[in-house]
Amino acid sequence: MNDKKIILTGDRPTGKLHIGHYFGSLQNRVKLQDEYEQYILIADVQALTDNFNNSDKVRNSIRELVLDYLACGIDPNKSTIYIQSMIPEVAELTVFFSNLVTVSRLQRNPTVKTEIAQKKELFGNDGESITYGFLGYPVSQAADIAIFGAHIVPVGEDQFPMIEQTREIVRKFNSTYGDILVEPEALVGKFPRVKGLDGNAKMGKSLGNAIYLSDTKEEIERKVMNAVTDKTKIRKDDKANPDVCMVGYYHNLFSGDEKEIVFDECRSGSRGCVACKKQLASNINRYLEPIREKRKYYEEHMDLVDEILIKGTKRARSKAKETMKKVKEAMKIDYFKN
Ligand code: ATP
Ligand code: MG
Repeated sequence: MNDKKIILTGDRPTGKLHIGHYFGSLQNRVKLQDEYEQYILIADVQALTDNFNNSDKVRNSIRELVLDYLACGIDPNKSTIYIQSMIPEVAELTVFFSNLVTVSRLQRNPTVKTEIAQKKELFGNDGESITYGFLGYPVSQAADIAIFGAHIVPVGEDQFPMIEQTREIVRKFNSTYGDILVEPEALVGKFPRVKGLDGNAKMGKSLGNAIYLSDTKEEIERKVMNAVTDKTKIRKDDKANPDVCMVGYYHNLFSGDEKEIVFDECRSGSRGCVACKKQLASNINRYLEPIREKRKYYEEHMDLVDEILIKGTKRARSKAKETMKKVKEAMKIDYFKN
């Protein structure tokens, strides 16, 4: 009998993964896959809530996510990678869960509120264009987590309110129908909220401000060269503040002890921005090189990627079916035994 604790985590197939994913969640997943039974969800149903008219993007991003996982060290023999829409039991549990949460609670969910505000800013959407599906995605996320009996969910800070929402729904289910579902805990990574290249509080695939794990050497150099710096520094030898500069910010992630020297020189005016940016780009590239190489291997073996997805989805579905059997018994909707 396998008595390992369970992890559920995942990403929306809305693009390739970025360094925010890496430091916020992926690093933890790689570390924890030995100790835990880990399920990694590719949330295509969730991605469709705000990309329903862009199915090509969602479809094309699925294999990109798997490539990023494998490149970063997710081992498909230890972690189960699966596609959300291929487990209809999750949609079924979402329907049952939707009775256990009020509309006003969903409207108050801080993640949903922030994402709606971001959409307004980016696309000029007004509140009227927010769909029932988008408002309800925390409910489907609760079903994703509960159907695997997950104890732990490694997420970035933006997802905390989602885990809280899941805990409330699970408690409501257990107090209504019997104590069968697990209340999960969030687990944050080393950098729970990595900022975007534009200085935005969150780097996001759909926000156009990301450094992708699969960016080429040249793309990294270009992005770093264009990053927002301390606006008060005009000349090369002006004193500046690395704490208000995106280049300084990313040095925190990629430059280890070197960053103290960089910051001192920046504050004293002995380092110009170009040298600082070149050093950062080179450090990022050194960090990403092994990830790129591993990704390339799998890009040349896409049949392996498909096999991993098919096997993972099959394994995940059988686990989801076990939970749904218990859920239906508890809800007294198991009408016939066979
Ligand atoms: P989208 O913009 O389409 O929502 P995203 O970049 O927010 O994409 P998701 O797939 O929504 O990525 O998130 C996957 C996981 O990565 C979540 O656990 C989320 O909290 C985490 N994450 C996303 N962006 C960051 C970030 N900038 N810093 C830390 N963690 C992050
Ligand atoms: Mg997101």
